[in-house]
Amino acid sequence: MWIGGHEVKGGGETIERLSPAHGVVVTRVPRGRAEDARAAISAARTAFDKGRWPHETASNRARVLLKVADLIDRDREALALMDTLECGKPIAQALGEIQGAADIWRYAASLARELSGESYANLGSDRLGFVLREPIGVVSIITPWNFPLLIVSQKLPFALAAGCTCVVKPSEMTSASTLHLGALLAEAGLPEGACNIVTGYGPDVGAPMTSDPQVDMISFTGSTGVGRAAVAAGAATLKKVSMELGGKNPQLIFPDADMDAALDAAIFGANFNAGECCNAGSRLLLHVDIAEAFLSGLAERSKLVKVGDPLDPETRVGAIITADHLGKIEAHVRAAEQGGAKVRTGGSRLESNGLFMAPTIVDKVTTAMDIARAEVFGPVVVALTFETLEQAISLANATDYGLSAGVWSRDVDTAIGVGRGVRAGTVWVNTFMDGTPELPFGGYRQSRIGRELGRNAVKDYTEEKTFHVHTGPRTTWWLPLGA
Ligand code: NAD
Repeated sequence: MWIGGHEVKGGGETIERLSPAHGVVVTRVPRGRAEDARAAISAARTAFDKGRWPHETASNRARVLLKVADLIDRDREALALMDTLECGKPIAQALGEIQGAADIWRYAASLARELSGESYANLGSDRLGFVLREPIGVVSIITPWNFPLLIVSQKLPFALAAGCTCVVKPSEMTSASTLHLGALLAEAGLPEGACNIVTGYGPDVGAPMTSDPQVDMISFTGSTGVGRAAVAAGAATLKKVSMELGGKNPQLIFPDADMDAALDAAIFGANFNAGECCNAGSRLLLHVDIAEAFLSGLAERSKLVKVGDPLDPETRVGAIITADHLGKIEAHVRAAEQGGAKVRTGGSRLESNGLFMAPTIVDKVTTAMDIARAEVFGPVVVALTFETLEQAISLANATDYGLSAGVWSRDVDTAIGVGRGVRAGTVWVNTFMDGTPELPFGGYRQSRIGRELGRNAVKDYTEEKTFHVHTGPRTTWWLPLGA
């Protein structure tokens, strides 16, 4: 682990990670304890209160972030291999994620140079106002297992760009690339203690990171349930919170859509990262006129999806994260069948030593069914039908989540009108799960608190300090003695 600029091993206990695709141990990381988390928080606090990073020029901060980006590029093959072996994701996809992560570090560097406050010269000739943007302080960054290096890169470079110091906890299942990032930060010249990394389980390491009074802000990505607990833990000391949580995202397909493109996006949206993706297009909302043809086409394409060894560059769908999670995915499908839904393709695990699930389409689903509302987090897509625009919007909004949605139509009124009616943080029109650091990302309702990326991404890690300055003789006396 990385605490105060040093590599530390903690108490000696380790967590072993089996590759979910191969069933062999691929990494062994320290099992951090609460005292390790506290040491990391204290190191971050000292680095913030007494260190140079919060006072560093934007130019120097940007130089470090750009150097990190270059080092991520240099080590991309190793980083991609770590994420593939621990997470089970296809290697070609992992390489793309690592390149995407480097790009985000560069974007954060550009925002570091742009960060500024406001000034008010319109308050009268004897009054001047200006608003400074200061780093918020110590930030706890807690990340999930599904996009290990990418998600930490949606948070850490922006917090560092603002001048904050951080404690990072990756998922206990996918810690390797984040630990390697710690080495790259040191190589890039980040001062000691500005970023501390502690591996371990949520209750041991994550919980103190959300409750310790020395922490000013929590930036969390993970499940809605744990996010809720993190917000509650932070509430005692009124920490700022940023939460990126679950999703049950609809793709709405209208009869005038480019069907080939929509089919490709539907199969991609359902199966990308084996569906273990907050942004997964896990609900297909189909206009009745095209529903049957669309589902037949989708079933045909499902058969072409290459599921298997994530180290094979041709693989599209790799392994499911754990045996327990694979069992939960299957249980969702079985429960839907018992409720009257129909499995059109897939529905079960594949015979293999690894943990693989067949791409699955579930039809005849109603909004009352759990599978229409809950985040399954597997390569499972459910289909529902609608007749009118109003029905389409109402179906799209029939979950507690509101992360993203896709609308497929060549008609601008339909595409924009439906997109505006959907309560989601991102609406894709005639595309799906496309992303770029310039555009903010986050959800409505129980998918979120706040946004990541976008031009405000660094501002999120700042406090505003208002300066109200009076110039010249006092003009308004409270007691008229000096008048
Ligand atoms: P999770 O909530 O189980 O764990 C996330 C992190 O929280 C892990 O590091 C875990 O160790 C830690 N944690 C566990 N208990 C904790 C506690 N009591 N206090 C503090 N930290 C604790 O999520 P997961 O299973 O790793 O990831 C899957 C979930 O993440 C899905 O719900 C998915 O939708 C969500 N996700 C959301 C986004 C997004 O941007 N909206 C992106 C990716 C994943």
